[in-house]
Amino acid sequence: MTDVSAPAIRPAELIQRKRDGAELAPEEIAELILGYGRGDIPDYQLAAFCMAVYFRGLTPRETHALTDALVRSGETIDLSGALGRRVVDKHSTGGVGDKTSLAVGPIVAACGVPFGKMSGRGLGHTGGTLDKLESVPGFRVELPLARFVEQVRTVGVAIIGQTAELVPADKALYALRDVTATVDQISLIAASIMSKKIAAGAQAIVLDVKVGDGAFMKTLDDARRLADAMLALGRQAGRRVVCLLTDMDQPLGHAVGNALEVREALATVRGEGPPDFRELVETACARLLMLSDLGVDETEARRRVAAAVADGTAESVWRRWLEAQGGSPDEDALERAPVVRVVEAATSGAITRLGATAIGNAALHLGAGRRAKGDAIDHAVGVVCVRKRGDEVERGTVLAEVHARDEASADAAAREVLAAYELGGDAPPPRSILLEVVD
Ligand code: URA
Repeated sequence: MTDVSAPAIRPAELIQRKRDGAELAPEEIAELILGYGRGDIPDYQLAAFCMAVYFRGLTPRETHALTDALVRSGETIDLSGALGRRVVDKHSTGGVGDKTSLAVGPIVAACGVPFGKMSGRGLGHTGGTLDKLESVPGFRVELPLARFVEQVRTVGVAIIGQTAELVPADKALYALRDVTATVDQISLIAASIMSKKIAAGAQAIVLDVKVGDGAFMKTLDDARRLADAMLALGRQAGRRVVCLLTDMDQPLGHAVGNALEVREALATVRGEGPPDFRELVETACARLLMLSDLGVDETEARRRVAAAVADGTAESVWRRWLEAQGGSPDEDALERAPVVRVVEAATSGAITRLGATAIGNAALHLGAGRRAKGDAIDHAVGVVCVRKRGDEVERGTVLAEVHARDEASADAAAREVLAAYELGGDAPPPRSILLEVVD
């Protein structure tokens, strides 16, 4: 055998061993991932490897090696070294109406804890955090790294787009997984998320793992397994990490759609948001304070979070943050959709179910999200779920508002939204948005 054939044979051998259920050594995983990142290993071999992983899984040692190789594929940032403080970050596995980071960042900063987050765009029912922020006129999500660090230092909060140099192998791998039916594998998800968090440099991270209809993780058991895998990876990298398992069977808060969600996040920063969203934001903020260098327990953390909201400090940080990134802090500057259609209950009863995916799809069809990479987003459109699971309604009660670009899309979305509500005789027992804390 000549030397020339060696690079082609080696990945095939590793794929075969994984396919047959063997554990690969950390150097072997690194060889595959870094080779792929350099363009030395073709898509088809990594696709086969991902499919072998899909069926065989990864051991904790392999998952750690994968995460480590992903991190090493690009540059890493040392935020705490640059600021001399323990910088905190939060990440959600994604859900319908999830604007949590928008409210958490300024509240935590108002409590004196530096918050620095890099976000991806991704596909989704509504845009990602970056798209939501871009519905603020003038807001810039692309800042040079030095400005990002400086803003965390001076304003206390910055959220920017992930730079191309950060974990480039994950970007390529995720795109490949997306078209090869290998996204929904817990070890691959854990490594993908944690590699980005570790490379982005925050020392303390709250992970919000969504569970239910509108989430990646449909069951509590799967969510626990993902949480455990991410906690282990975070700790191996020397980070302080907590996972919140939270309900995504119905949309979070009321608003689903970019500018609508920014308004709701601001209302929450002022202490006026919907109860489920407020509960999640307060819990995430308190947990971040507990992980931070303030050295506070839960009672003190909750007290400081409530005080920052009540005395207006959080809202003034919100304004300074938006201005620092070029955005208008004027709420009236947020775009409004030209057509607002109300959706009324056709019968009386209790709302027994409000499907998160169905509402997400209605928002997507209105133009609030992207079906394909590069699609334009309409920041103004979306759905406001005025009534939610457990509410008792009469026939004719307004269940939701559809915010649309035109009458035809409003009609279509109104039908979808109505179908997302199930009404019955007995209200389901109230349940907290917070299902479990894993730490
Ligand atoms: N989000 C990520 O960043 N990666 C995954 O693999 C899944 C969700």
